[in-house]
Amino acid sequence: MTAVPKTQKAVVFYKNGGPLKYETIPVPVPKANEILIHVLYSGVCHTDLHAWRGDWALPTKLPLVGGHEGAGIVVAKGSEVKNFEIGDYAGIKWLYSCCMGCEYCVQGAEPNCPDGEYSGYSHDGSFQQYATADATQAAHISKDAKMDNVAPILCAGVTTYKALKTAELRPGQWVAISGAGGGLGSMAVQYAVAMGLRVLAIDGGAAKGDLVRKLGAEAYVDFTKSKDVVKEVQKITHGGAHGVINVSVSEQAINQSMEYVRILGKIVLVGMPAHAKITTDVFSHVFKCDQIRGSCVGNREDTAEALDFFDRGLISSPVKVVGLSELEEVFKLMQEGQVVGRYVLDTSR
Ligand code: NAD
Ligand code: ZN
Ligand code: ZN
Repeated sequence: MTAVPKTQKAVVFYKNGGPLKYETIPVPVPKANEILIHVLYSGVCHTDLHAWRGDWALPTKLPLVGGHEGAGIVVAKGSEVKNFEIGDYAGIKWLYSCCMGCEYCVQGAEPNCPDGEYSGYSHDGSFQQYATADATQAAHISKDAKMDNVAPILCAGVTTYKALKTAELRPGQWVAISGAGGGLGSMAVQYAVAMGLRVLAIDGGAAKGDLVRKLGAEAYVDFTKSKDVVKEVQKITHGGAHGVINVSVSEQAINQSMEYVRILGKIVLVGMPAHAKITTDVFSHVFKCDQIRGSCVGNREDTAEALDFFDRGLISSPVKVVGLSELEEVFKLMQEGQVVGRYVLDTSR
């Protein structure tokens, strides 16, 4: 085994929306509860873009190393760590740590812990070559996993798998996935197919249409071409989608889902456009008896289950691999809605 270096490459920003600096910084030293992961690949999630821009009411740590889809190898560990050995494959996910003792943690709702800390947000994340992770929350990755491919499972996979569980749909029912051609959406399509659901994918442009069809979507609605997304969804699904997974970064798209959801349907909110609000007709919700539910990443069990689908070959990440130094360019494409699937950063370049 090679020794852990003292310094490393990372992408750091010092103020929200400020320059993304590819620079040399110290390798962090793991605390008693932490493992040190040599991050080989990190996915780029739209949450990383929100964090950099400072889109949400929740402030980020500054300076910050973003990233929360990191896949790598354990190279050091703190004195209290019993569940990881040096050489194990481990993953950095959004939830860095939670208290494990509050009423929400006790129920297994770990991402809802009021004392949660977040990788790449309140704790330096995976846009660096060596990152620390709380050993309780770090994901265990199989030694057979292809590391660039498994990285997006750690947020996009877990989140959409959990969102689909939250929708409580039955095999054969229609699920509309809004934002289906992006990072989360391309995972949602595959988990939904694996669960026996019929997928109606919504996104913009031919490239995203090709991708979602390849991943198993039965129908595609192109919001840039459709004259009326609501009517089109209702027509294809003969009365509206039984469930909706909202992973777009569009307030308008989220509001449309309130209308095209079927009677008794479930609308799951996942994407978080800055300052977005839902405005919807109370009368219609009462008569339809539909349900709006929020879904935030997943707990350790969801993580293990989402990884198990991946290990069994049911999910493949549509990734484009570029260097860590190219993060700024990836953010630019993401902001323009040009990312088809997921970009993954190779931390060695
Ligand atoms: P992404 O940029 O890869 O994908 C978003 C997709 O939405 C794009 O393909 C875009 O073309 C599409 N889109 C834009 N306008 C649309 C419209 N009107 N109708 C349909 N589709 C439209 O982003 P991502 O990484 O998949 O993340 C999506 C969102 O989910 C972000 O807001 C992110 O912060 C959030 N997120 C939430 C959780 C959670 O736990 N709730 C976890 C991870 C990410
Ligand atoms: Zn994410
Ligand atoms: Zn807690």
